[in-house]
Amino acid sequence: MINYFKEILVGFWSLLAGMAVTIRYFTKPIVTVQYPREKIPMSPQYRGYPQLIIDPETQTHRCIACEMCSRMCPSQLIIVEGIKFPGEKQKRATKYIHEHYYCSLCGLCTEVCPTSALEYSAEYRLAGYRREDAVIDHLLQLQQRQQAAGVPITPVPTEADIAAAAAAEAAAKEAKEKEAKAKAAAAKKPAPGEEVKE
Ligand code: SF4
Ligand code: SF4
Repeated sequence: MINYFKEILVGFWSLLAGMAVTIRYFTKPIVTVQYPREKIPMSPQYRGYPQLIIDPETQTHRCIACEMCSRMCPSQLIIVEGIKFPGEKQKRATKYIHEHYYCSLCGLCTEVCPTSALEYSAEYRLAGYRREDAVIDHLLQLQQRQQAAGVPITPVPTEADIAAAAAAEAAAKEAKEKEAKAKAAAAKKPAPGEEVKE
């Protein structure tokens, strides 16, 4: 009989303890995140995959397609291509692909970049259903971030743009070579009145 009343008391006490916890948290702010509809802000120290920085001055990327990051990556995950467009002093990236599933987040690519063009993203939703989900086209991803930030979108050069730039570069090189040859020939020509040595 004593045990019977003891069990009732213990049960009543645990009910009160549970209600006390419920009442205590009833007025506190909600901490539940409605994933996947809601995203949580990540700490500045968080390392997602490397991505191109949007330069605050130019509102575009700073990649000059030097391929240092691609050569430095121990897992060889980066493919960069670029070309110098007419009137521009440096090359500009026309392709920047990164396969992030094998990325160890070692940071070598971000450290070696001469223009500090790379940063770690705050993206934590990295799972995918297919292998191709891991392949990120960073020029397209940059456009999405520019759109979200409400800044001008950097166009990705088309095949025709790249071919035209390559043709212009080849023509400029040829013209330079011709000019150098003409200068060398003029330097060899004897001045009027000067004897040609046999
Ligand atoms: S963080 Fe390391 S592994 Fe990942 S892409 Fe950069 S260099 Fe490669
Ligand atoms: S090291 Fe920097 S500038 Fe060079 S290709 Fe990589 S991201 Fe672009």
